[in-house]
Amino acid sequence: MRATSAYRPKGERGGGAGGARRSGDSRRARRIEDRPRLAAQDFADQLARCAAALEEALASRDLSRFYAAFRASELPFLLGCHLEGPHGLAWRCFEVVHRLGSISPAVALAVENHYYVSCALATFPSPDDSVLEARRSSLVRSIVDQRLLVANTNSRIHAGKLGTLGSSARVEDGGYRVSGSAAYMSLATEGDLVFFLTRVETLGPAIFVAPLRGNPRIEVGPLLFPDAMIDSDTRQVVFREPLLPAESALLVGKSDALARLTAFQSAWHQALILAPFLGAAARALDEARRFLRAVASPDGKPLAELDGMILDVGRMAIRYRAARSFAHSACTALEAAATRRPELPEITELFELACASKQFGTRCAEAIVTEVRRIVGGRAFTGASVLDRLSREVMFGPLGGEVHAFIERRYGRRMLGDDDFVHNDW
Ligand SMILES: Cc1cc2nc3c(=O)[nH]c(=O)nc-3n(C[C@H](O)[C@H](O)[C@H](O)COP(=O)(O)OP(=O)(O)OC[C@H]3O[C@@H](n4cnc5c(N)ncnc54)[C@H](O)[C@@H]3O)c2cc1C
Repeated sequence: MRATSAYRPKGERGGGAGGARRSGDSRRARRIEDRPRLAAQDFADQLARCAAALEEALASRDLSRFYAAFRASELPFLLGCHLEGPHGLAWRCFEVVHRLGSISPAVALAVENHYYVSCALATFPSPDDSVLEARRSSLVRSIVDQRLLVANTNSRIHAGKLGTLGSSARVEDGGYRVSGSAAYMSLATEGDLVFFLTRVETLGPAIFVAPLRGNPRIEVGPLLFPDAMIDSDTRQVVFREPLLPAESALLVGKSDALARLTAFQSAWHQALILAPFLGAAARALDEARRFLRAVASPDGKPLAELDGMILDVGRMAIRYRAARSFAHSACTALEAAATRRPELPEITELFELACASKQFGTRCAEAIVTEVRRIVGGRAFTGASVLDRLSREVMFGPLGGEVHAFIERRYGRRMLGDDDFVHNDW
């Protein structure tokens, strides 16, 4: 597989992100084999720098400043430091997304999309499929060595029938001709590669990875959410019949490997996708704390000393902690599974765990931000209060990733099924 040339971004854009890759930063040249595991202090320092860059970027409405700092750090390429073992990788990704989510859930969601795809590819064990193994490891090497960000689309469109795929491909000239469109692709103008699911005529479902830049036949369209979620950079993508080389296809046709990889990357997605919104909840709790400690009732008693208030915030703190613990279980289960070659039932179980964590966490996050807004009152929307942005973006938590009706039905059927539910081994 000629991954090095196939996945090199062709078009450098202006602005910070391209600049980071052109900067001659010594980390840029470091080969994947030479990457040490990022020490805890370095991780914390880099995260603090990226969080500060995001605050500045939002204040100046120039997100390229954030992406420049992010790409120049090791954070997007944590997977490169964990190739010898995934221990801690998912939770570190979660922490990055959570921290960024405490500033902008929308930007954090875009970053989460890069993490889940790249980490799923990096940690998917497929030793018995040499072609997939070669493509996968070459791709991961390109992502890390060339400092690439990965966008994705499941090719769904908003049609009269739920689950309709908007794109398809056909075999042509030894490659694949892709056509159609997809409603959702976050990180759309920052991504260098697009990982996408589609169907190949007569062959069935397929997973592709292709360069996103410099290919006019892969057209990134207008913003899908032109207002509230604008910083997730979620756009429609239109495939104007690009001819992709055979090696762009990771897997084609129904197979155990395809089922395992799609379930595995979905498990990664559900495990991480609540992080932007739980980060928003954490920040809201912080805002409530500052407000309640700084403001007194008319009789001069600090609001933080009112017993009813203490109980209210205590309930929120417990919900936050429960959601965080649940997410931690999902992340550590993913890391553990990635150390062996899990069969489909085990990956499905991981997916179920991650879905439950996502359903619970995003709902908790939305409820916490709503309650904090009520506590802080109208001033939550004045000046540069972060609660304004958190309020507008946190509601997208339950709307992204797996649809909650789908998750709840699976759990409901399981609970009502023949197998004992309550004494399940979890
Ligand atoms: C901010 C944001 C960014 C996103 N970014 C990406 C991205 O980068 N890449 C990507 O591939 N996707 C992305 N998505 C899409 C995401 O992956 C899901 O496909 C999408 O959120 C599903 O929601 P929908 O409203 O499109 O669902 P639809 O499938 O259109 O469902 C609409 C509604 O129908 C009902 N419904 C749906 N299914 C069922 C069911 N099985 N049973 C009962 N009722 C049902 C539910 O009430 C649901 O809310 C993004 C979504 C959001 C919100």
